[in-house]
Amino acid sequence: MRTFEFSDRTRALNLEKMQSQQFDVLVIGGGITGVGIARDAALRGLSVALIEKSDFAGGTSSKSSKLIHGGLRYLEKAQFKLVFEALRERHLLQKMLPQLVGPIPFLLPIYRSGRINFFKMAAGMWLYDALSLFRCPKLHSTFFKKGILQKESFLSLEGLQGGFLFYDCFTNDALLTLEVARSAHQEGAVLANYVRLIGFDKTDNQIKSARVQNGFTTEIFSIQAKYFINATGPWSEVVQKFSSGVCSIKLRPTKGVHVIFPRSVIPVQHVVTLQARDGRFIYLIPWGEHCLLGTTDTDYHGSGGVENISATREEVDYLIESVRRYFPRSSLSDSDIISTYAGIRPLVHEEKNTEYRISREHQIVKDPSGLITIVGGKLTTYREMAKEAVDLISDQPCITDRKPFVPRGMDSAYAHTLSERRLESFIQWGMAQTLSDVMVRRTEVFLKAKDQGISSVPEIASYMARRLGWSQLRLRQEIEAFKQQVMLSKQFLLKAC
Ligand SMILES: Cc1cc2nc3c(=O)[nH]c(=O)nc-3n(C[C@H](O)[C@H](O)[C@H](O)COP(=O)(O)OP(=O)(O)OC[C@H]3O[C@@H](n4cnc5c(N)ncnc54)[C@H](O)[C@@H]3O)c2cc1C
Repeated sequence: MRTFEFSDRTRALNLEKMQSQQFDVLVIGGGITGVGIARDAALRGLSVALIEKSDFAGGTSSKSSKLIHGGLRYLEKAQFKLVFEALRERHLLQKMLPQLVGPIPFLLPIYRSGRINFFKMAAGMWLYDALSLFRCPKLHSTFFKKGILQKESFLSLEGLQGGFLFYDCFTNDALLTLEVARSAHQEGAVLANYVRLIGFDKTDNQIKSARVQNGFTTEIFSIQAKYFINATGPWSEVVQKFSSGVCSIKLRPTKGVHVIFPRSVIPVQHVVTLQARDGRFIYLIPWGEHCLLGTTDTDYHGSGGVENISATREEVDYLIESVRRYFPRSSLSDSDIISTYAGIRPLVHEEKNTEYRISREHQIVKDPSGLITIVGGKLTTYREMAKEAVDLISDQPCITDRKPFVPRGMDSAYAHTLSERRLESFIQWGMAQTLSDVMVRRTEVFLKAKDQGISSVPEIASYMARRLGWSQLRLRQEIEAFKQQVMLSKQFLLKAC
């Protein structure tokens, strides 16, 4: 089996190629949508370059609920096509990446006081199984009160009627994105993280090249390509403006936050689907020895753009309050919370709907300068989105539904301590360039370790500095940048004072 280095050396070589070659397509954005497009296009024989201004999955693609799911709640809005498509993708991803996408049981308890009708939901459950063409990890089961309590004994008894057990899938979104990026590289795509698009050069109003900047050296250079695809998610309006000054697709960005705490606080065995006070579904997800709780969904109007956003006091309270109603014996409070994170959904603008009801379907447009922009969708449906985008520039058939992924050489499981061997694998096989790349996205240390990894920073940063040739100044900047992320994740506490 061939092994494929995907390292700082690969990045340096790729930067040279980007300056000397003319590509069929340049993809802007290294979230799940962009790397999915790069892999699909490379598999169809196109020459592909991809730039990402921060790290792969540095945007929304590491801030999701990490579910690969059909989205039971979209049935309420009769979005059967979206659910059908997402369930098909769930099946494919589980088959093609079993090391990253695995089944997880969901429990949906029904209470008299809730807005869900038991019998209507029973029909919905059959529909959900049917829309997956019964290719679900297991068919759903129905339980009355006693059966539900046997499954999750800490649930509130008051008004409990019964509920449903069904299956969807769970992943690590950042590692899934990285895996697709690595696979795109294996198929011949030329990728580099920490390279930002800063403008386009046009002839006769048609884009001929992209002006980009290396995030570490600040060097500016041009990349020439026949096609340019804007897959920058929440940043896509900015990139559209670089091309033509106008936005063909307007976004309605919404913010979603999650909190992480030890599973000992509420020892759930299933993803428990809770209804928040406003009727929205939120999920309490068992994640190893921890629980992931989320998410909120509110219109985002941040004046400072979509960088460095964090969970607010109000958002954390909303999540805690929902859990307390379902688990009255739980003492979940601020002191249990290890970390929080916040992400922006790049949803397509629909004036009339509330945040929670905005469609998760995607849109693709080509503007007069030739820029193709793709936004919306879900982590789950990235492959289908990529297929539709690449169909616009290639006559060759898409083969991502059958082309297997080559197993990786990167060891990425969560551990309290990071050995040199593991660190080396992130640098060698995962193009880790910064301290935060390792702490936040290649491992779960930032999210799950009690101190979010602060105590191991000196050792890890020193190893990376030696290995990647950082100056003393760069070393200090890396440590500072990571501490900044830890502070952001705890910012909701400061605001309470
Ligand atoms: C709270 C929340 C929960 C979610 N939960 C789920 C879930 O459970 N399941 C699911 O299927 N989906 C979920 N989603 C949706 C899913 O996460 C997103 O649809 C998906 O990650 C969007 O990916 P993207 O690649 O389009 O955008 P992004 O991941 O944001 O990628 C865009 C990239 O473009 C880069 N970029 C921006 N500007 C430039 C530039 N000038 N030059 C170069 N690069 C640039 C950014 O750095 C970024 O990395 C959730 C979303 C949120 C916010």
